[in-house]
Amino acid sequence: MTNPAIRFDSVSRHFGDVKAVDAVDLEIHDGEFFSMLGPSGSGKTTCLRMIAGFDRPTNGQIFLYGQDVSNLPPFERDVNTVFQDYALFPHMTIDDNVAYGLMIKGVPKAERMKQVNEMLELVQLPGFGHRKPSQLSGGQRQRVALARALINHPKVLLLDEPLGALDLKLRQQMQIELKSIQKRVGITFIFVTHDQEEALTMSDRIAVFSQGKIEQIGTPSEVYEKPATPFVAGFVGTSNLVSGDVAKRLTGAEKTFSVRPEKIHLSFSNENIPAGMISTSGLVRDVIYLGLFTRYLVTLDEGGDLVVVEQNLKTTSMDVLKIRGQKVRLFWEKEHMSFLGA
Ligand code: ATP
Repeated sequence: MTNPAIRFDSVSRHFGDVKAVDAVDLEIHDGEFFSMLGPSGSGKTTCLRMIAGFDRPTNGQIFLYGQDVSNLPPFERDVNTVFQDYALFPHMTIDDNVAYGLMIKGVPKAERMKQVNEMLELVQLPGFGHRKPSQLSGGQRQRVALARALINHPKVLLLDEPLGALDLKLRQQMQIELKSIQKRVGITFIFVTHDQEEALTMSDRIAVFSQGKIEQIGTPSEVYEKPATPFVAGFVGTSNLVSGDVAKRLTGAEKTFSVRPEKIHLSFSNENIPAGMISTSGLVRDVIYLGLFTRYLVTLDEGGDLVVVEQNLKTTSMDVLKIRGQKVRLFWEKEHMSFLGA
């Protein structure tokens, strides 16, 4: 088996009393699109900075393809970083910005230009080489920053919230493009974001961070469908957390579980609920019509509230708003519950 692209062996980075990263173990595979997801201050950027070499662990070791790089300076590591603020040279043309890494290495001009053109093709900016960064849009600048990093063919590309400055539409478009570029070049991408939708859209695997620790590592569907902790259930998507007496009345066990709002079905009639389902009833306390779907807040007879989301396939706003105050039955499949650890 080949070495993982990155391995963290009980890595910590403490700043005085602040445990920015706390005894993290991690393996990122070669060629993987890996996201570090978590709220502000959870330690993602510190992890990225330690991989890049801008910061060093207080404890533990970091391996890059099997080599211990914990104490190597940034320029001796085969990694490149793309930052949110692009960090392009404003006085240079796009061609020169992209060619910069090759120029430093002494690659002859003709060869440099050939590679620059290939990179600008890859990021869908052919013909933009003569412009200056100020003559490009935010999304185009971000593509140049990507081309400038990729031209060095790093073993690992680090991306620190690179889409953070873009508006939602452009952001969504760039998410798809980034993923497709990563597939084409086959380089390991490590992507830092606090946006769960972004992480779910692009990643092969996601590490969910909270307070300097990793709560869960898994594929997007594992993290979404089978959250390992209450934190993950709440941070990645919306989830209903049910615990204590209510959990016991519904499932027979007093263990906390989560169930996603879209997995719960509502029934307003006496139709038979399929066998094997968890079922209960309650009162619709609130209805929020959101066009594509409607969000219902239901107070269960057992106590506690559940949020339920249903697509508006046939219903209209007039129909759904009438449901407020009605009795409903709710049911969901057992396999859609995740029992959570601490
Ligand atoms: P964000 O999404 O806001 O960038 P993050 O998850 O990337 O957050 P980090 O930047 O890694 O979080 O910070 C983790 C913790 O370490 C925070 O509490 C932060 O204040 C602290 N921290 C980071 N760098 C330093 C530093 N140089 N000195 C002191 N504390 C620091």
